[in-house]
Amino acid sequence: MKRKRKLKKSVKIFLLVIVLLTITVLMIPKNKEVIEPEINQEEVSFLLEQKVIDQEGENFKAKIEYPFYNNKDIDRVINLFVTKKFYDLTKSEKYNTLEMNYEIYNIGEKDFVVFEINSTLEKDLKYKTFLIDTKEYSVNKYENILDMDALKTKVLKKLENRYSDKIISGIKNIEFANLDYLFNKDYLLLYFYDLKTSSMSYTPYIKLNKSDLKNILKESVDVDKTYKIDSIKKNKNIVLTFDDGPGNDTEKILDVLKEYDAKATFFVLGNRIKTYSSVILRELNEGHEIGSHTYSHKDLVTLSDSGVLNQINSTNTAFNSLTGKHIKLVRPPYGSFNDKVSSLVNYPLILWNVDSKDWEYRDATKTANWILKKASDGAIVLMHDIHKFNVETLKQILPELEARGYNFITVSDLASKNGISLQSGYSYRYIR
Ligand code: ZN
Repeated sequence: MKRKRKLKKSVKIFLLVIVLLTITVLMIPKNKEVIEPEINQEEVSFLLEQKVIDQEGENFKAKIEYPFYNNKDIDRVINLFVTKKFYDLTKSEKYNTLEMNYEIYNIGEKDFVVFEINSTLEKDLKYKTFLIDTKEYSVNKYENILDMDALKTKVLKKLENRYSDKIISGIKNIEFANLDYLFNKDYLLLYFYDLKTSSMSYTPYIKLNKSDLKNILKESVDVDKTYKIDSIKKNKNIVLTFDDGPGNDTEKILDVLKEYDAKATFFVLGNRIKTYSSVILRELNEGHEIGSHTYSHKDLVTLSDSGVLNQINSTNTAFNSLTGKHIKLVRPPYGSFNDKVSSLVNYPLILWNVDSKDWEYRDATKTANWILKKASDGAIVLMHDIHKFNVETLKQILPELEARGYNFITVSDLASKNGISLQSGYSYRYIR
């Protein structure tokens, strides 16, 4: 009897657990399908690229334009911001729309990417400004260009008669670094979204003109040198490098480079320097850079220590006795090196991030198309001046890349433009 009752009790508990579980499962909201943004990329008039999301769903409509810098650090920050806005929109229960576009202003080495955000999810038009350091290729904080204490003092002074004491004391407590700024060439607008009360018809804000900003903007920022970036060509740099020469067709390659005022870097073989001395001298004369590709194209990893040193030193000697100059860069044959090689060589090792594949294609159009597909700002392109068809390859890529806004410069110039000093024993595949 006792046993039966006990059993009954456990059955009851079991049924109760089942019921509770069922209720719990029913109460979990049905997982909403995640909508991925469809991103299109286009090259815009000012040669910076732009991405566009133009998408409609059951309960949303999005039209987002944003710039694409071809730099992972910058693009990651902007992408995160854009996709967060997109996902917030698609996840909302009611029908909502989002329109986002941007303008870019440049002051010296900084780009101000100003987003205007018009969303039915938010009451007001909103702005967000990203400060892009185009020298360091990074996204800066506002503190980098604004003296935050001076800014706060100025803001409070200008607003003391306009807003109530409550708002003013609210502003005093705000961390200015976290605010949303609208920053363009004429003024700085600051919005205090969190201080808006239900009785206010607009968000409290302050507009500071150029003259207000005098002691607030840090010295590195010269507002008078501001321009809107889509009126100018956005400069990009690319390095064309030619290995294994000089050869019989190198002069034809030099002719085409000259036509486009393009500078290149030639990684020459030491054992060719004497035979092609006039070509070497012409390369230098026309502003190209010359680096070492070793004396006889040996895989340095397979050599003894003295073998490696011999490959490097004999090339330096041959180059120096012809030109009176010294080699500054080395490209190891086959891009092959290890720690031992790089410390023995004791020069910056210049590799590449765009292999033209001319050695594989053996065809100008195929090689040109491949380079055009892979070209990016700061890229180092590997080619060979011993292939005659590369004269034609150059005729195809130079005008197209020039139209996309590229400058053709040497490895050393690319490094100095980026404020980088190339270090011995280090290897470089691109510089930006
Ligand atoms: Zn080679």
